[in-house]
Amino acid sequence: MQGVGFRPFVYRVATEYALKGFIRNTSSGVLIEVQGSSSLLDKFCRTLKQDAPPLARIETIDECAIGCISEEAFVIGSSSSGAEVETLIPPDIALCCDCRSELLDPRNRRFRYPFINCTNCGPRYTIVERLPYDRPFTSMHGFTMCPECEQEYHDPLDRRFHAQPNACPVCGPALSLLDSSGKPCSVTDAAAEAVAFLKQGRIVALKGVGGFHLAVDARNGEAVRRLRERKGREAKPFAVMMRDMAVVQNFCELSEGECTALNSPEAPIVLLKKKKIEGLSPSVAPLHDRLGVMLPYAPLHILLFNDEIDVLVMTSANFSEEPMVNENDEALLRLKGIADAFLMHNRPIHLKCDDSVTIHLSGSLRHIRRSRGYVPAPVYLREDGPVVLGTGGELKNTVALLKGTHALISQHIGDMKNYEAYRHFQHVATHLQHLFQATPELLVHDLHPGYMTTGWALKQNLPLLGVQHHHAHLASCLAENKVERLAIGIILDGTGYGIDGAIWGGEVLIGDADGAHRFASFEPMPLPGGDAAVEQPWRAALGYLFRSFSTIPDLPFMKGRTIEPVLELLQKRVSVYETSSCGRLFDAVAALCSLQGEITYEGEAAIALMLAAGGTIGSSSFRCALEEHSGRWIIKVSPIIQDVVAAVQKGVSVVDISRRFHRTLVNCFSDIIRKASEATGINTVALSGGVFQNALLFETLVCELEKAGYRVLTHSLVPSNDGGISLGQAVIGRSYLAGRYCGIH
Ligand code: ZN
Ligand code: ZN
Ligand code: FE
Repeated sequence: MQGVGFRPFVYRVATEYALKGFIRNTSSGVLIEVQGSSSLLDKFCRTLKQDAPPLARIETIDECAIGCISEEAFVIGSSSSGAEVETLIPPDIALCCDCRSELLDPRNRRFRYPFINCTNCGPRYTIVERLPYDRPFTSMHGFTMCPECEQEYHDPLDRRFHAQPNACPVCGPALSLLDSSGKPCSVTDAAAEAVAFLKQGRIVALKGVGGFHLAVDARNGEAVRRLRERKGREAKPFAVMMRDMAVVQNFCELSEGECTALNSPEAPIVLLKKKKIEGLSPSVAPLHDRLGVMLPYAPLHILLFNDEIDVLVMTSANFSEEPMVNENDEALLRLKGIADAFLMHNRPIHLKCDDSVTIHLSGSLRHIRRSRGYVPAPVYLREDGPVVLGTGGELKNTVALLKGTHALISQHIGDMKNYEAYRHFQHVATHLQHLFQATPELLVHDLHPGYMTTGWALKQNLPLLGVQHHHAHLASCLAENKVERLAIGIILDGTGYGIDGAIWGGEVLIGDADGAHRFASFEPMPLPGGDAAVEQPWRAALGYLFRSFSTIPDLPFMKGRTIEPVLELLQKRVSVYETSSCGRLFDAVAALCSLQGEITYEGEAAIALMLAAGGTIGSSSFRCALEEHSGRWIIKVSPIIQDVVAAVQKGVSVVDISRRFHRTLVNCFSDIIRKASEATGINTVALSGGVFQNALLFETLVCELEKAGYRVLTHSLVPSNDGGISLGQAVIGRSYLAGRYCGIH
């Protein structure tokens, strides 16, 4: 990988052992030629492996002996720009300790300089225009280094040797503060002035590493509510940035794994359990038991905190579900009316990249959104193969480019619901190919004919393959776990187009990338009005009642709603879609319990139902019935709905209903896995799909399946939600090119 300080490290080691030779980057990795006594060479090799810099990742070392030639010293050669570039671009890396000390040291020439960086930290992926990763090909090309920076850049013993974004106040990018109308404010210290604004409760748009954030003081309830209002974000939780670990520990429970993640060079948002929230505005993350927390990762962020400001809401600057804003002009235009001030700079962001979101469950860090800090580091595959591009799905879209043994998965692109998102998608999909100089032999898209990503694939003039959504989920889970044999996949999510045209989403598939058999699925339920029932779970609830009862019972959730037209749709079977979705089942049960009749963001009702359980699963279950229909097991949904209704009518608390409902799902899937395993002898179970972001369901199921002796595969490198399906699609694409693909049946 370039830009992680590997060459200066090797130089230092070689010099220390008085070895001679050279190191240089080549198109296929690093080439080191070194001569000296064999004992020193052994030491040299050992040190390479043991003491490599924190961000360097050595995949393999190939050694061979060659004849001696006369050499004077050890030198760092310039990069050769081969025809094929394989050297990887590193992700954007959080501020390192050394730079942080310099930033805060009044005697340092970069004191309070918001663009301080070195070979161990700083922006990478977001500033790269093309390979090789050299300054002229980054968005730093407009800044000429001053003599002092230049000297650091060329000194192999300096921490800034070949640090491409190297800069200082004399020669590098600068901050500026603009008022709400975009007029520059004349201030001497823009960051300090922005802090004053924040303290007054104002909304500051600030340009960070991968795009703009909107920041407000998280202790100021009024300010947070104003941000919600202006951004058109009613209830979806905001992420916060906390000044330091002491502040985090004050508000949140913290495990060792969570602590490591927060402080890692990737510096993601980690969803932490709330401990004490007094002092924080309740509208930061209303109703949630967790808070999305990150630590300051860019030098600019450090300058925003002081004794008075220790928690900031930091949310991607966009309107509702559009992609985040990354350019200055765009920010002034699109954030007008939202931001009270703009803290910007003149280092362009070439590629926007949101913050990554993670959660620590069942002993591992899991991605909910894999973006800044992780992208474009590859996910390693078991096998080599042709170049294939997976275009992802419709929600939480990512694209995946397979090249050799690397799966290069894009940053989170977002929901393909608007033109902005589609433009971002197009940009990323083509940029990835240019950046890694790989032209796909095959494009793989979702089977859904209406997806924008499918439409894009059809226009590309390349061989195509449409892949079933849940098959892609299964293949994704197997690929990231490097498992090639058959597995029983429990795939639970909201929506995926089935091969029969119905909406799938509660599936047990047995197979691998080559193909899969639909062993079991939820009983199909009618969804009146399709998408309307997704946004309004009470409509879904009516559909589920309609299928489960001959006379629809009168329930509290119906109060004040005009249910007749919906029932009419169901009776006449007009715009009614059959679904085996697990997400919709959660929605329906949440609505039946009067928890959430409408939602303002995806998954809101399901989350409300999970939260109602308060982290505890029930001991008793609703009825869990399996029926076999022409070679497929049907997990009966209507008895569950009947039992939930009976419980609601008896006045059983939502807490208990939720706990029992979760227990029911765990029992159903345990039963079905036993059947599948007995029928096939397969002992490996793969869990995928957005529903597994439900901590209660996920952790219980993992625990019980493992206890029962199964090998359980889960996602930790890519999201279990639709952010992970591009990987699965691409891997299936390779099986197709190899002539092994037989689809789903
Ligand atoms: Zn640094
Ligand atoms: Zn300089
Ligand atoms: Fe999905």
